[in-house]
Amino acid sequence: MSDQDVPEAQRRAEQLRAEILEHDERYYVQDAPIVTDAEYDELIQELRRLEEAHPELADEASPTQQVGGRASAAFSPVVHSSPLLSLDNAFVEEDLRAWDERLQRRLGVAEGDAPVTYGYVCELKIDGVAISLRYEDGSLAQAATRGDGRVGEDVTANIRTIADIPNELPAGAPAVLEVRGEVYMTTAAFERLNEWAAEHGHAPFINPRNSAAGALRQKDPSVTGRRELSMWSYGLGEVKGGPGLARHEEMFDLLRELGFPVNPEIRTVDHIDEVVALCAHWEQHRHDLPYEIDGVVVKVADLARRADLGVTTRAPRWAIAYKFPPEERTTTLLDIMVSVGRTGRATPYAVLEPVFVGGANVERATLHNQDQVAAKDVRPGDTVIVRRAGDVIPEVVGPVLAARPEGLEPWVFPTTCPCPVQSTLVRPEGESDTRCVHPECPFQVQGSIEHFASRGGMDIEGLGERTVAQLIELGLLHDVAGVYELDFDRILELEGYGQTSVDNLRAAIDASKDRPLRHLLVGLNIRHLGPAGAEALARRFGHLDDIVAADAETLAAVDGVGPTIATSVRAWFDDPAHLAVIERLRAAGVNLEGEAAPDVEQTLAGLSVVVTGTLEGYNREEVEEAIKSRGGKAPGSVSKKTTAVVVGDGPGASKLTKAEELDIPVLDEAGFEHLLATGELPG
Ligand code: NAD
Repeated sequence: MSDQDVPEAQRRAEQLRAEILEHDERYYVQDAPIVTDAEYDELIQELRRLEEAHPELADEASPTQQVGGRASAAFSPVVHSSPLLSLDNAFVEEDLRAWDERLQRRLGVAEGDAPVTYGYVCELKIDGVAISLRYEDGSLAQAATRGDGRVGEDVTANIRTIADIPNELPAGAPAVLEVRGEVYMTTAAFERLNEWAAEHGHAPFINPRNSAAGALRQKDPSVTGRRELSMWSYGLGEVKGGPGLARHEEMFDLLRELGFPVNPEIRTVDHIDEVVALCAHWEQHRHDLPYEIDGVVVKVADLARRADLGVTTRAPRWAIAYKFPPEERTTTLLDIMVSVGRTGRATPYAVLEPVFVGGANVERATLHNQDQVAAKDVRPGDTVIVRRAGDVIPEVVGPVLAARPEGLEPWVFPTTCPCPVQSTLVRPEGESDTRCVHPECPFQVQGSIEHFASRGGMDIEGLGERTVAQLIELGLLHDVAGVYELDFDRILELEGYGQTSVDNLRAAIDASKDRPLRHLLVGLNIRHLGPAGAEALARRFGHLDDIVAADAETLAAVDGVGPTIATSVRAWFDDPAHLAVIERLRAAGVNLEGEAAPDVEQTLAGLSVVVTGTLEGYNREEVEEAIKSRGGKAPGSVSKKTTAVVVGDGPGASKLTKAEELDIPVLDEAGFEHLLATGELPG
């Protein structure tokens, strides 16, 4: 940088310092940050780089040299016996290696010398709030937050409500013992808190860390108690009358013995390569844990080496925090729009100023339904926090209220479908979803045909989103049965289609006619009916006509179906328009039969067995399942085609008479078992 840049650098440094101090106040004192941690870290890094490039800007009071935070006047101040420090950060592998090299140099290792070994303890960096617990003569005497590192806030009454934290220590505990650790909220407790917030009409809490910080700093300890906080312990402050310790791991043994929670994932390794591997492992697996972590803290295990390395005003030299790439960012919510899917469900989604988060560019995020938008109270124009964690789809966590421009109106759910038909959107009583009710809504038609042709449905190659849209637009396709009635000569005339592509499409459509029944059931786009339910129905009934004929109760009794799916399936088949679709599919030669259970021998193939009365070993459904899964038919009445009539307790008189009339063999339960096993009538 040239000299001319100095005033500019100074101006920027001052601006950054002021900005950072403001964020510190909001984060540590008000528990209501307006930027994400990653955005905050970027400001700190920029300031650090500036101060390194311009040593004349160095200032002891700079946030780069201080432990961030301040004790709020709402709590009594507690002067820590030894300061609670912050940690230096590493963001990439090279930062970890550079840290290790710095330690080696400080410990007097010259280049080319054999390195000093000290062991690296790798701990999860728990995303919570630091706490210092002071025990005197075995009793919890005081608990304090970090504050500015030197003076914290007295939160003893609140800490006593946390089940993980002992009030009394076992006999033989040191006369004075200060335990340091992280108070946090598990993901499950956080979800429960947000359920409670939703039930009581409160805005949702943003994340477990802020919730834990807020809960710990309540004026009323009973509120803290209800928030289900937890703690992991990871360090010591003042100790009098304790055992001499040589290594960090021995401290954990002592803490465990005294009844403090010690995280089970802590590992000691000997080489920096293993540290790097562990950090990479946790970056991949952070979401497997039942609580949130934002990195891995690496600490020198050998306590004598630690003493040699010492601390700065802000952080120990013997530790470093490897921070994971951010999963949250702030951006602008440009608009809220509604999309209508194949079931007519209208889903609001956020249109965002594109933001890179969780390893991807995010410009859309679902807002689920009307209630979610209202609960989060996000409004177009807001600055919002966007989260993209692991494989989870991007989510708008909530608005940054402090940054809301004046005059932003709450968003109102539209009453018309965004489709060209502009039909009405309706939200039925007691339901969370709003739907487009017009059966000809082009979005629904398009979605349902795409779904019909998709992998899980009839699996028709070449009939994707674009082709479907084109065929609908040209009036060649109106519904799913229309797929089998396509006028291929007309398609051949279209631009972009040659004989080969039309032949391929025709062949793919023809091939789909033989798909198993479960695929057809999925393809029909019946609300709530997914692949598992479709498979259960296909196996149990064996033919679409039998499913159409079954009442809701019979459907609901099928293993893997249940009342919600059953009601929805029944309602679907009760619609004459849907039955007409089925008839057109039948006429086109689409397979309506199910596959028999593959693991059962098809002993009853081609046979028809009528059961009347109650059998001991089977209920009504199980009898039918036993017959159908073996390839047989189980009709409700006796006819010429009936192979045998099985008679249980309390048989129907008409069935028995009919069997006699037609001279059809009558079997008891043992005979039925024989028939199932062999396919033959007992001799
Ligand atoms: P830090 O979070 O980088 O690391 C120090 C803290 O880590 C300790 O105080 C302790 O609370 C915690 N920790 C968790 N597990 C630990 C373990 N196993 N061993 C030791 N410590 C462990 O530093 P900091 O000074 O507490 O805070 C700075 C960070 O806080 C920033 O990097 C940023 O992420 C966040 N912050 C955000 C804002 C904002 O506005 N969003 C403002 C200020 C600070």
